[in-house]
Amino acid sequence: MVDVWVERDGNNVSLSHLGPGELVGEMSSVDREPRSASATALSDCVVVEFNHEQIVKRIKSMDPVMRQIERLRATNTRITETFETVQDVVASQRHPLDVIDMDCLFDLRWETDIQNAVENDQFELYFQPIIDLASNHLAGFEALIRWNHPELGLISPGDFIPFAEETGLIADISRWCVKKTCSLAPEFQLSALFNRIHVDTLFLNVNISGQNICCEDFGQWIETVIVNSDCPQGMLKLEVTESSVLKNMDVAVQTLTRLQEIGVGIAMDDFGTGQSNLAYLNQLPISTLKIDQSFVTSRLDDLKNQQVVKLILGFANVLDVNVVAEGIETVNDLKYLQSMNCQYGQGFLFSRPLPLADALEFIRNWQSMIDLETCLVNVA
Ligand code: C2E
Ligand code: CA
Ligand code: CA
Repeated sequence: MVDVWVERDGNNVSLSHLGPGELVGEMSSVDREPRSASATALSDCVVVEFNHEQIVKRIKSMDPVMRQIERLRATNTRITETFETVQDVVASQRHPLDVIDMDCLFDLRWETDIQNAVENDQFELYFQPIIDLASNHLAGFEALIRWNHPELGLISPGDFIPFAEETGLIADISRWCVKKTCSLAPEFQLSALFNRIHVDTLFLNVNISGQNICCEDFGQWIETVIVNSDCPQGMLKLEVTESSVLKNMDVAVQTLTRLQEIGVGIAMDDFGTGQSNLAYLNQLPISTLKIDQSFVTSRLDDLKNQQVVKLILGFANVLDVNVVAEGIETVNDLKYLQSMNCQYGQGFLFSRPLPLADALEFIRNWQSMIDLETCLVNVA
């Protein structure tokens, strides 16, 4: 709980009492007019700083931050009308979170936290194996990001990537992932040398965003990263989604073509969930289609899903690209995909995404003749 007050005629006059999730100084931050008030913490609290740029960016992008501020003010008035003193609020035992709209502050805090995470190396990459389904050789890995939040622990990408996309922070996050993966590439290559019989020349897939593709210097930037990191030629692949490409097709074609020229493979992620038509696919220098897991995971008994998989494999054949089926969880999923000559597979049946040390160990221990029934242990 925080008391916001000003001094008038030698007395401290309380303006408002703020609880968790409330903003102070937001109007000065918006209009940059000086206002002065003091804030005294009445109990332990965490202060999250936000700046003029963060607020203005939201206003420009039509984020309803102003409305949120008004709502926060209204809430504040409601609280002060209902409870005359701070002690009343405390005595009521109602947690201020029950009555305060947290959206605005939550967004600002999340944004600041993500910015700090990029700067302070709080992200970590996990690696999920991709298997050649004909030979059962280990073919590569997909790098998947996790966030080691200092207070909240390990956070899944689903909980922050959509927000990072919205705020534009994704561009820096993706660059971090590419840089990190390239810097680790020699370690993957070295581990593969210890298991040449069961491991092919590995590729490493990194997910990037439409915001990277739209950035004209991206190809040049990747080239510099590859050179500076000793990442073997042809080892890096980038995964893009259909929607991110279709948003800006002209620039996408340019950027992806440049990437192809420098030996970076392009995989179309979550394929089958978007437009998936040959007309636009034909214009893009794609090397791989990834069948979305929604058609695969324990769903290949369904005739419709079988048709989708067949269709995608047919597309891939026409385009002369290879295919990775995602979300293989059962031996049945695997057997069906093998019977359809799908080249690559990825899924919990083989392994969940692994931290770096485990991924390197996985490379050394992978045996392609492994009894697939034993893989089921991984799924449990
Ligand atoms: P995605 O790119 O489609 O990644 C595959 C997701 O499916 C991963 O979830 C993986 O753990 C999960 N998965 C793999 N095999 C199976 C399976 O057999 N069954 C099931 N149910 N799930 C399986 P994860 O790591 O939680 O990532 C979720 C999504 O977050 C990713 O989907 C991707 O869209 C995004 N993401 C993850 N890392 C990054 C990143 O570094 N950059 C960007 N831009 N997005 C990322
Ligand atoms: Ca992916
Ligand atoms: Ca996917």
